[in-house]
Amino acid sequence: MQSCDVVIVGAGLAGLQLSRLLAERELHVLLIDRKPALTHAVHTTGIFVRRTLEDFPLPDNCLGPPVRDVTLYSPGRRQLELHSNHDEFRIGRMGSLYEEFLDRAIRAGVEWRPATQFAECDLSGRQVRIGLDHQGVRRLVDARYLVGADGANSRVAAAVGLDHNREWIVGLEDVLENVPLNGPPRFHCFLDPKLAPGYLAWVVHDGEQVHVGVGGYPARFDPVEALKQFHASLQGIFDLSKAEVVERRGGRIPVGGVLRRIANSHGLLLGDAAGAVSPLTAGGLDPCMRLSKYAADVIVEFLKTEKPEALSDYSGDLFRARFVSRLWMRRILKDIQSPQLMEAGCALMRLPLLKSFAHHVFFGRGSFPDISGHERSAEEPCKDDPAATTA
Ligand SMILES: Cc1cc2nc3c(=O)[nH]c(=O)nc-3n(C[C@H](O)[C@H](O)[C@H](O)COP(=O)(O)OP(=O)(O)OC[C@H]3O[C@@H](n4cnc5c(N)ncnc54)[C@H](O)[C@@H]3O)c2cc1C
Repeated sequence: MQSCDVVIVGAGLAGLQLSRLLAERELHVLLIDRKPALTHAVHTTGIFVRRTLEDFPLPDNCLGPPVRDVTLYSPGRRQLELHSNHDEFRIGRMGSLYEEFLDRAIRAGVEWRPATQFAECDLSGRQVRIGLDHQGVRRLVDARYLVGADGANSRVAAAVGLDHNREWIVGLEDVLENVPLNGPPRFHCFLDPKLAPGYLAWVVHDGEQVHVGVGGYPARFDPVEALKQFHASLQGIFDLSKAEVVERRGGRIPVGGVLRRIANSHGLLLGDAAGAVSPLTAGGLDPCMRLSKYAADVIVEFLKTEKPEALSDYSGDLFRARFVSRLWMRRILKDIQSPQLMEAGCALMRLPLLKSFAHHVFFGRGSFPDISGHERSAEEPCKDDPAATTA
């Protein structure tokens, strides 16, 4: 039977990043994913925010051109323009980015097994005995520690007795080609409780790629139908006459905030599996990067000391305390069900105070909240870091 220090289930951004960080610290890491290749079934738009781009060395050739402009649309399509003097967003070319991250991980010593599914685990022994299925054959692996980086609907969470996500929105988008760009690269956000109940619909065009999507609470809309209607409603705003859909992406986005119990002496949760997504913006890529660094420190310490106290700081309760305002704003967004009310809210956003709030939500140097002592947990500390605001 194979044995290793850490088994990581899921090679999304969180699992890829953590696997490399642990391998660089001399641990024997086995990384598995049920996908045969990481370019398959990408489910994210891939928008990285400024603070992530500043704090982590993401490969430039896997990122699109910077975006500095946002247009916010009311249900009646009244527009509010927001502009930043900084490069605020870049869309990751996620298939290439995952492959690049995997390559870095393998070079650091990570053992990689694609097309391998986590099935179950036995926690009764000194080590965690993990059942992995590959092409219909079950293999057992003993590990000192198990990590669930297996997304919003984590199987590892249940298997090791940790919390699991209960609230999510669903996002669905098309990636288009052949849409002319008028003006600078732009993120268009449509607030419309019918097309995107509890969240927003979006068109993000960086001059190379165009993503057209809708997101919302699954009980309140049919994402496929909403995306169709959204496409149709864009005719007057974008020239879609030659547009070609080259990819469809979609999935669940947990928005209930970081889960409370995300680590114990058998394993821990990371990324979407831990609910580490901004409840307001539904951005989960920055948390993947930031929380991975923190998880690596905690795992290394735990395996060295074998003391459960080493895990006590990796607690959702500590992170949740920093999420309070965003959880409140999520409740408000969720509860606005009438287009008229949303229209009125959008009209108010023209007032200077609320416009600066909107500016803050889109352009504030927000990121996953770091807890004290880990405030600068990125790989390359950034030079100018005024009291960071979070959105
Ligand atoms: C439509 C959409 C658009 C989004 N856009 C953005 C955005 O623009 N910016 C942003 O910041 N966030 C965005 N998000 C959220 C963001 O994509 C996620 O928070 C982030 O990708 C989570 O990464 P992860 O590594 O935790 O999980 P995932 O990327 O979900 O990776 C989990 C991996 O685990 C594997 N897996 C699952 N179960 C098993 C199993 N039993 N055995 C083996 N492998 C398994 C899966 O195959 C998958 O590869 C978006 C989400 C959606 C759905």
